[in-house]
Amino acid sequence: MATIPWLVDVLRGAGVQVVVEGDWLNRMRPGSFNPIGVLWHHTAATSSASNPHPALNICINGRSDLPGPLCQALVDYHGVFHVISAGRCNHAGVSGGSGPIPAGDGNTLMIGWEIDYNGVSQQMTAAQYNASVAATAAVLKRLGRDASHARGHRETSTTGKIDPSFIDLNSMRADVAARMAGGGTAWSATVDNTTAGRFTASANWGVSTYSGQRYGTNYRYANPVAASDAAWYKFNVPATATYRVEAWWPANAGYNSSTPYVVATTTGNRTVYVDQRVNGGQWRVLGTFTLPAGDANRVGVSRWSGAAGYVIADAVRLTRV
Ligand SMILES: [Zn+2]
Repeated sequence: MATIPWLVDVLRGAGVQVVVEGDWLNRMRPGSFNPIGVLWHHTAATSSASNPHPALNICINGRSDLPGPLCQALVDYHGVFHVISAGRCNHAGVSGGSGPIPAGDGNTLMIGWEIDYNGVSQQMTAAQYNASVAATAAVLKRLGRDASHARGHRETSTTGKIDPSFIDLNSMRADVAARMAGGGTAWSATVDNTTAGRFTASANWGVSTYSGQRYGTNYRYANPVAASDAAWYKFNVPATATYRVEAWWPANAGYNSSTPYVVATTTGNRTVYVDQRVNGGQWRVLGTFTLPAGDANRVGVSRWSGAAGYVIADAVRLTRV
């Protein structure tokens, strides 16, 4: 095998969001490429929601001491795979041997994901992890290899590499194996009212720690009003598909009996009314909906209720089904 021109299709088929970076089919290093495994790295660059792929240019073009491409794909802050190369890349150096990966030329033996986080003061995001597990499972299935062929650079390096930091690689392989078996690890993401950059509400929504049934440190509350002043939860939905939408609220006899949750589906907004006087402190299913791919506000809590009592915005979870 000299190239893996199937990479983009395999990733998309696994529900991974893909951005194709230019002429990826013809951008590669000379030399042999017969991959039997997937190697995880971190870039050591500090990524953020507003700067999601700071190492992308280096991974495409290389640096003064190492010509690019430096990986087959870069995984950005939001879990989007930027596909750079269908062939050999300078990511692995010499393999010292790890699990079923023998000692030898790591760039021949493995496909590399450069996951864009700094690995010292910054961990991999949940979106990066979920997408990397899904991508690794799909690629290993395509290669006809099991989950033991997923490795971390620190396992194969002969030069003391530490990447990928903050990841238990045995847990990662267990998650890849579960994904390959078709169980357990469907894409899921939770947004709490304190999740940075993913929750917005006006100043009319107060902050409370009153109920011990809250998710996380606090929750938001507001009086019902016949006006549009929703609190919104933003998700980076990996593919247009069916998702289970769940909500968590602390319950109280004084809270609203008909709180409107708005779900932004492929066919417009759907509203589900819940009784926040009961069923608190647990995930409650609002329904399953077809959601469009992309990063946007997906679920809102509206203040427009005809019932009395505070409407509550705490946490929302999406799970692909
Ligand atoms: Zn590395």
